[in-house]
Amino acid sequence: MLACVFHGPGNLKVEERPIPKPGEGEVLIKTGAASLCFSDIRVFRGEKSARQGVIQGHEAAGAVVSVGAGVRGIAVGERVAICPIMACGACYFCVRGLRNRCFNRKTLGYDADGGLAEYILIPRELVEMGHLLKVSKDLPDEMACQTEPFACALYSLETCGVGAGGSLAIVGAGPMGLIHLLLAKAMGCKTIIVSDPVPERLAVAYGLGATFTNNPRRHSLAEDVLTLTDGLGVDAVIVSVGAVAAIDSGIRALRKQGTLNIFGGCPPGSMLSLDPNLVHYNELWITGTQNANPEHYQRALAMLPMLTQAPKLITHRFPIADAPKAFDLRSSLDGLKAIIDFPS
Ligand SMILES: [Zn+2]
Ligand SMILES: [Zn+2]
Repeated sequence: MLACVFHGPGNLKVEERPIPKPGEGEVLIKTGAASLCFSDIRVFRGEKSARQGVIQGHEAAGAVVSVGAGVRGIAVGERVAICPIMACGACYFCVRGLRNRCFNRKTLGYDADGGLAEYILIPRELVEMGHLLKVSKDLPDEMACQTEPFACALYSLETCGVGAGGSLAIVGAGPMGLIHLLLAKAMGCKTIIVSDPVPERLAVAYGLGATFTNNPRRHSLAEDVLTLTDGLGVDAVIVSVGAVAAIDSGIRALRKQGTLNIFGGCPPGSMLSLDPNLVHYNELWITGTQNANPEHYQRALAMLPMLTQAPKLITHRFPIADAPKAFDLRSSLDGLKAIIDFPS
């Protein structure tokens, strides 16, 4: 089978690998589609670590083609999306259902072979934890494979308490910012301001239903937000770019008792300087979210067929042989979601 293998920063090769055979408790999936995440690009750039020799990709969906001995609840022929978290099930966080914070967490595409290959061997701990999610007939693989980013954004929005009638600013109109936008709209958020320095991305955000767009090179986000909200500020700000300046401007757009979520990882060594009185006197909440829990995956997967605009985020498709081209494209911040399609 063809697989896109990480050999260290900047060194990605499409190679022939043997098709794995599922051992006890394991499941083999024939990949239908996989999508590229900006965190894959961060690994490629050396900003985030992954095991050398690992098959990259943690956003994938496909069909079960064989199951190992002792596998229950999953049958050959079923279509599944993957929650790529391998959790221990026994640590402080796991017993509280917070598997994304597991002390012994491993992740498909980083520590174990992931989805950028014609077949994916699903490890036993992932199968046993119920991290293979059944996909309904009305959802194609190229949307089902994006369950992970939609789950991450759903968790992020819920952490910020975003809901019906609320107001939200999203800093960064890349794929994750736009996924936040689609979900926030579906959750009934009334006012959604999207900020990005790239005019084409703002046009996409507007087309997808942003109430207002802000270009921080032209206007301060905080000033635009205060004008739009009669001086109140927004309930929540999601910072969906890995940049300290974006966090700084986001904090100033919050209303009193508002919540800011640092959703995007920043380059190592980044430092944020913050006026503590801004937090104290305005009673601000500043938090972070990373990945999501299986519950968010289940609910995001259930929402995906209703998000009729979501397929518009797919701007590029590549065969697995050209996977490195998808990395180059996303590295240069061109396009939105890049999909690796696999012929059935
Ligand atoms: Zn992802
Ligand atoms: Zn654990």
